[in-house]
Amino acid sequence: MTGPLIQARGLGRVYRLGGGDVHALRSIDVDIDAGDYVAVMGASGSGKSTFMNLLGALDSPTSGELVVAGELLADRDPDDLAAFRNRIIGFVFQQFNLLPRTTALDNVALPLLYRGWSVKQRRERALACLEQVGLADRTDHHPGQLSGGQQQRVAIARALAGKPTILLADEPTGALDTQTSADVMDIFDSLNAQGITIILVTHEDDVGAHARRRILFRDGQIVEDV
Ligand code: ADP
Ligand code: MG
Repeated sequence: MTGPLIQARGLGRVYRLGGGDVHALRSIDVDIDAGDYVAVMGASGSGKSTFMNLLGALDSPTSGELVVAGELLADRDPDDLAAFRNRIIGFVFQQFNLLPRTTALDNVALPLLYRGWSVKQRRERALACLEQVGLADRTDHHPGQLSGGQQQRVAIARALAGKPTILLADEPTGALDTQTSADVMDIFDSLNAQGITIILVTHEDDVGAHARRRILFRDGQIVEDV
């Protein structure tokens, strides 16, 4: 593949509501290279999550062009986008979004269902991912039996299970205390060192400091990129 891993041109997202349109993203131009480590920052409501959801094909733009990993993410049907997501993207959310009545191992193995692997292959891969985040001894625990930091590490393992090219994390430390946040950031650092492109949203400067590049959003636009 030539060119940047992610290429956005005039990327826009308008939410059409009864009371009028909300311009969540206004014509964003940005390139992100493979292997980069990017912090997306900015005030609440500035468009960060909207941007992440577009990158991860959880949502579609209303204007402009977005190419991720060589694929044009516009006018694609939902099954197509789901397949793209499963292959290319790992997503981590602030509230972990784990299945509550499901073990850590099965939470991690679940996204692999769509790969056509055997149960044994899925469990082996899930175990390897839990080992990678330091939770090999918690495979049979349910989310409610784990601390917040442990739950987020399970969520990271789940995001890694499909060997994604890009890891997208929307305020991954937003629900964690300072020490736990630092542990989670250490994991992101080592994943990036292994070559995974990481884009994470954060409000916290010390979290943003882990990234190589910081993109600041204001009112749906990029106002700083360093
Ligand atoms: P951030 O993640 O930076 O806090 P968001 O991307 O969530 O910002 O939101 C950007 C703007 O779009 C805000 O004004 C928000 O209210 C609006 N918005 C976000 N999601 C929706 C939605 N599903 N429907 C309508 N408006 C939305
Ligand atoms: Mg947000």
